[in-house]
Amino acid sequence: MKRSAECVRVQGSGPVGMALALALARLGLHVQWIAPAERIAAPGDVRAYALNPASVALLRELRVWDAMPEDGVTPVRDMRVEGDRPGAVLEFTAWQQRVGELAWIVDAAELERAMRTAIGFAPAIEIVGSATAPGAPPALVAHAEGKHAASREALGVRWTRHDYGQVAVAARLVADRPHAGVAWQWFRSPDVLALLPFERPRAGCSYGLVWSQPAERAKSLLALEPAAFEAALAEATGRVAGRLELAGDRVGWPLALAQADRWCGPGWVLLGDAAHVVHPLAGQGLNLGLADVAALAQTLGGREPWRSVGDERLLRRYERARRGPTAAMAQVTDGLLHLFAADAGPIRAVRNTGLVLVNHAGWLKRWLAERALHG
Ligand SMILES: Cc1cc2nc3c(=O)[nH]c(=O)nc-3n(C[C@H](O)[C@H](O)[C@H](O)COP(=O)(O)OP(=O)(O)OC[C@H]3O[C@@H](n4cnc5c(N)ncnc54)[C@H](O)[C@@H]3O)c2cc1C
Repeated sequence: MKRSAECVRVQGSGPVGMALALALARLGLHVQWIAPAERIAAPGDVRAYALNPASVALLRELRVWDAMPEDGVTPVRDMRVEGDRPGAVLEFTAWQQRVGELAWIVDAAELERAMRTAIGFAPAIEIVGSATAPGAPPALVAHAEGKHAASREALGVRWTRHDYGQVAVAARLVADRPHAGVAWQWFRSPDVLALLPFERPRAGCSYGLVWSQPAERAKSLLALEPAAFEAALAEATGRVAGRLELAGDRVGWPLALAQADRWCGPGWVLLGDAAHVVHPLAGQGLNLGLADVAALAQTLGGREPWRSVGDERLLRRYERARRGPTAAMAQVTDGLLHLFAADAGPIRAVRNTGLVLVNHAGWLKRWLAERALHG
């Protein structure tokens, strides 16, 4: 007997909420997507996300990936991680890992635009301006409202948050030489700096910058005149990527590690940053959120014919599948941050030596790359 489509309300207008709405519509569920109008009208985000192959596979399945403009996606073929001593370098290449690309860098605003367009073409998705709008009561409410999700408190969820006292400065840059698909990252006390190869505004020569700094220092960097900021950047990168110029605004993002104590209950579930937040140093936050989407869709799609999508026992299967990998990634990012934030001489020596050793230990490098590629 064919069961009638249950209704799921997806609350969250960010990339995780949109991906979930699309994934659930493909399962034949009726989806109410709650999206405040202002986010839809002006997504303008200077960030460039590093996405792993699992996220790309999901976006492809949702017909979002192929709708991305050509210059909104850049494959990463080489990744160089530098410590704070000359020669302390760890390098990953796509050919060594026997993959076509190590990751893809995508324009955050274009990704949201492509998802929003796909939602417009999905007849099973009803777009609703607010959760109080009239309509059939949903069997399940999926909360993907980001790290400030107001609904957690009403659901009785405890949110444990550790403020790193750091701010990530994000911006777009243009270089005077081609990026050649190389992503750069500097780990040293007290900052972490990433240059992600990109096509906008200048094809083949642009980067997305993510520069995590102690909050006070980030504040001064954000206040600097463009020329002074570029000089600070030249010093921090040693000009290895060429002369870098700002191509637009700089935006600061306060950084924290956070986790919800429960991810589901009867008729509700949490996903993405509403459930967990990690430091962006490994570029994994959205990858984790999209893995939540894939896992929840798989759980709901594989439910017994008599079970409702809001059944807590069913939703716990999703939580069990995702808690372990998320906690592991939170530990890795937090551990790396503490290891590289420490300024003491012996720790500094150990971490620099560690980078060199890992660079020469083929099996360990492969293992690390595997974790980074597949989450
Ligand atoms: C500087 C920086 C760089 C990063 N780089 C990477 C990277 O390279 N790779 C990566 O994987 N991750 C990266 N991340 C992490 C990534 O940005 C987040 O993990 C991702 O945005 C989480 O998506 P989300 O949809 O869960 O939450 P959000 O992006 O926060 O979206 C949630 C949205 O829901 C809206 N909302 C709130 N309440 C409601 C409601 N009641 N109804 C409807 N909507 C509501 C919010 O206003 C918000 O717009 C980075 C983060 C930072 C800060």
